[in-house]
Amino acid sequence: MANPAGHIGYCDTHQKRIYPTRKRAKQHIRNHHQTEKRMREYRCAAVKGNWHVGHLPLAVVEGRKTARQVYRKRAS
Ligand SMILES: [Zn+2]
Repeated sequence: MANPAGHIGYCDTHQKRIYPTRKRAKQHIRNHHQTEKRMREYRCAAVKGNWHVGHLPLAVVEGRKTARQVYRKRAS
């Protein structure tokens, strides 16, 4: 069934909504967070192929680091 909200479930590991594709996650940001500059889509580290939507870390917003750097550090 088509789900207008975009997400397909809930991730127990991260307590976040799950999106099946990056496109759907981006769509959610576009539809619901248009004025919000700090949102990004990112891969769920627990379940391959799942995507989450979350806030950018402050360091990324300020341009000190890329999101990739921040999340790589956090995951290890
Ligand atoms: Zn997750």
